[in-house]
Amino acid sequence: TEQRWERRAVIDLSAIRHNVRRIAELAAPAQIMAVVKADGYGHGALPVAKAALEAGATWLGTAHATEALELRAAGITAPVLAWLHTTDTPFAEAIAANIDLGVSGWDLDHIAAAARTAAQPARVHLKIDTGLGRNGCTPEGWRELLAAAAAYQEEGVLRVVGVFSHLAVADEPERPETDEQLAAFRAAVALAEEAGFGLEVRHTANTPAILSRPDAHFDLVRLGLGMYGLSPFADQTSADLGLRPAMRLVARVANAKRVPAGQGISYGLTYRTAGPTTVALVPLGYADGIPRTAQAAPVLIAGVLRRSSGRVAMDQFVVDMGEDADPADLIGAEAVLFGDGGPAAEAWAASAGTINYEMVTRISGRVPRHYV
Ligand code: PLP
Repeated sequence: TEQRWERRAVIDLSAIRHNVRRIAELAAPAQIMAVVKADGYGHGALPVAKAALEAGATWLGTAHATEALELRAAGITAPVLAWLHTTDTPFAEAIAANIDLGVSGWDLDHIAAAARTAAQPARVHLKIDTGLGRNGCTPEGWRELLAAAAAYQEEGVLRVVGVFSHLAVADEPERPETDEQLAAFRAAVALAEEAGFGLEVRHTANTPAILSRPDAHFDLVRLGLGMYGLSPFADQTSADLGLRPAMRLVARVANAKRVPAGQGISYGLTYRTAGPTTVALVPLGYADGIPRTAQAAPVLIAGVLRRSSGRVAMDQFVVDMGEDADPADLIGAEAVLFGDGGPAAEAWAASAGTINYEMVTRISGRVPRHYV
């Protein structure tokens, strides 16, 4: 049956499966953790998680324990790791739901206390900050964290099953800091192994490291961006990497009309038509996650590639279609902002001064997702 749609993000789950299989080949024998935080980078955490597991991913990763609990509530039984906590994180619930927890320092005691409440040992992955300067334990504090974790493990309150870190500049392969981070990671892993935890997994690679640093793969790689078919590298496209973008953002043209030369367009009248022309109205705006900072962003409308004209508003933006375009042909036509057959998310990111990660992640819940 023909479905009516006004605006939608079409999510191609066969692209997700393709990308997981493609990257699993590169990463083997390392296992794949499908990173589905932030609602699967805007693609839908649950459908993406299922597709990734079908294609061979064996782990799932989220930032928040609450995101991991949503996967469990939906019936996902695969191993899940959550790594970003606050003092109000529902640790006991997470432990009871068999969610693995990252530990950066202060959270060790909270997780141990919650494990007693849950009457179940917590499975934890100790996180070392090897240079990103964000979460994780400093190298200076690492021995102390290992000792504290060993005492809890001895007591039966928790099991240290993983050691992990996160890389800062893997998307810039020429920079030297990744070597330094990997050396620090190997040292931290060696100390953890000496402590005799019986580690299951050591992991530090994100998408750029999976693609460019086989020496960063260890036992498990944490795959986010590449699974969604996007490139982490400025000089390589998705196609260059053999990846297929999974999100296609489209809307039907909401209005089209003839306007005279010198017509100001949208708030601030920052764009003026050069001559008599046809303008098309695309019903997606910053409330939908289209960046207001986007300027002259590419849009494929009725098969013609044009650029956004004037400011993006809350619900809509305008595209100058040129003098020869007939408004009657445009009303109801498909406008492709990015995705299969249209501009790349990277092109939108460039015109908005951001990155492809942000373009897909910020598409708001106001835009229906449609799965194919
Ligand atoms: N690991 C951690 C700790 C992350 O925060 C992220 C996402 O930022 C990832 C892995 C996945 O990174 P990417 O999307 O570059 O694959």
